[in-house]
Amino acid sequence: MSDEQHYECVGIGVGPANLSLASLLHGCPGLPNLFLEKREVFSWHDGQQIPDATLQVSIFKDLVSLSDPTSPFSFLSYLKEKGRIYHFINAQFSAVPRQEFRNYLEWASRRNQNVVFGEEVVSVDFDGTFVLRTNRRTVTANNVSIGIGRRAWVPAVARDHLGLTQFHVSDFVPLSRDLAGKRVCVVGGGQSGAEAFLDLISRPSAERPRRVSWVSRRHNFCPIDDSPFTNDFYMPGYSDYFSRLDQGTRESLNREHVLTSDGISESTLREIYQRIYAERFIHGNTDLVSLYPNRNVIEVSASDNAWSLKLYNSNHPAVPGQVDADVVVWATGFRTVAPDFLAPIADRLEREGDEYRIDSDFAVRWDGPSNRSIFLQNAALQQRGLADKNLSLLAWRSQRIIDRVRCVRSDDPVPSFIEWSAKLSPDERVG
Ligand SMILES: Cc1cc2nc3c(=O)[nH]c(=O)nc-3n(C[C@H](O)[C@H](O)[C@H](O)COP(=O)(O)OP(=O)(O)OC[C@H]3O[C@@H](n4cnc5c(N)ncnc54)[C@H](O)[C@@H]3O)c2cc1C
Repeated sequence: MSDEQHYECVGIGVGPANLSLASLLHGCPGLPNLFLEKREVFSWHDGQQIPDATLQVSIFKDLVSLSDPTSPFSFLSYLKEKGRIYHFINAQFSAVPRQEFRNYLEWASRRNQNVVFGEEVVSVDFDGTFVLRTNRRTVTANNVSIGIGRRAWVPAVARDHLGLTQFHVSDFVPLSRDLAGKRVCVVGGGQSGAEAFLDLISRPSAERPRRVSWVSRRHNFCPIDDSPFTNDFYMPGYSDYFSRLDQGTRESLNREHVLTSDGISESTLREIYQRIYAERFIHGNTDLVSLYPNRNVIEVSASDNAWSLKLYNSNHPAVPGQVDADVVVWATGFRTVAPDFLAPIADRLEREGDEYRIDSDFAVRWDGPSNRSIFLQNAALQQRGLADKNLSLLAWRSQRIIDRVRCVRSDDPVPSFIEWSAKLSPDERVG
């Protein structure tokens, strides 16, 4: 094997997580790196790029800025290079358009010659160094960073019915084009469900469905909590603190705090409410919308060329509910899946429940040498909390990975105002 095929770090997958690492590694002396993406071209949830959708985090939470504000891969550098920095300021966006952030990510992937598209990693083995086989070649690496994201998830009752008339919201853009006059049911009360619902009820009347129902398990259509102290959960210090808690406490905190991550933007809720008001009271369209919170879909069956969804309402358990629809959109989230390509070494890696167990540098704990690591990005929700799957800590996590590879430690930000640990005074030493 020739020398050019050996790297200090090879990344598998090029979404925001590994693109952040690739951007911070770019130009780092002595750290040859390569990032492999199986898609032929860059994509960031393109099947779900619903017009007018916006980012749910601050624009400072780009690929690099929170770790290296001078990086040429920042969102600001993108605006500058595109000649639109003043226009961006003048536009006074209250939140960054998601499509613009997607275009920024694509720009960052294109200006980095270490990022390669159309190359899928099919196996990772270990032979003193990691041996990665792709659909094109074999490369070796001292370290591997896995950033393959999460897979679209639907409940078991839907799995046998998926197709053109029942689909996950990640395929919403290509599959929702021709819904005029149909009855559509959106299942899922998070931001993705809200955006799909808003898009459907906002279409021009000739393209609009006849009726749009929205079903959610949550007790209402609940907003994201984006307030200052809540955002402490999305700081590096809290991520480290969370990782040291026992498993039961971590699980219950993730459940309790889910709306800090998976709630609906207030602006989206306001737009939905105003659109319903206009349709019902101004245009007299009383039959367009049905809202069904507090319902769980427990059965899906075919009936008269349509779908019948049986609903369970925990406030009225004895009263069965039913929605009939021609098309069902499942906005029911994404889940982490253990990658098949790790099969050759899977039994050497420690697990915690459904996840691989990671150490404080996001390296999987394993029986191999400590200077050879597999880093996991966005695959440790139970160990690192809700911030793990979010854009908030991208740059910090990437920096920590780089620090581990370089055997250094960058300064963390000043600690939170909140004392999360069991300490009662600043001088006390508690874990
Ligand atoms: C519609 C949507 C909007 C979101 N908006 C926000 C937001 O506003 N704020 C926020 O904080 N979070 C947001 N998120 C959550 C999170 O930031 C994104 O899901 C983000 O894309 C996660 O990045 P990732 O790199 O981990 O995974 P992904 O973006 O899923 O990228 C993984 C990549 O790995 C590739 N891959 C998989 N297997 C292989 C293989 N074997 N070989 C090579 N390549 C492979 C895939 O093709 C894919 O391109 C959003 C999520 C969604 C779905």
